Amino acid sequence: MSPPARKLSVTMPVAGVHHCPGDLASACCPGCDHHLGLTQPESEEPARLIGTCPECGRWYLLDWHPGSSEGLMVLLPDHQDLLRIFRALGMTGPCSEGHDGGGPSASG
Ligand SMILES: [Zn+2]
Repeated sequence: MSPPARKLSVTMPVAGVHHCPGDLASACCPGCDHHLGLTQPESEEPARLIGTCPECGRWYLLDWHPGSSEGLMVLLPDHQDLLRIFRALGMTGPCSEGHDGGGPSASG
């Protein structure tokens, strides 16, 4: 049985898509101006993208058709942010279960 999910409140900055200079078909990192690597998780939703910055490690949720001048990007919390949030909730971290929690599984 998995523990009930908790709700957490996170402030995530949102902005218009930060286009790379002279290129409406690509997005750049607002933090460091490096080209973002774009991933489209769902083939039928071409405007739902995840952008990752190979330079500074930030990652973004994008609602944007590449090539369009309009679109939104949301800065997602990184690993350290998530750990801080989990600790603030009194949780030890996203990987806190599964080691020797004393579950019903037979140990060998
Ligand atoms: Zn960056």
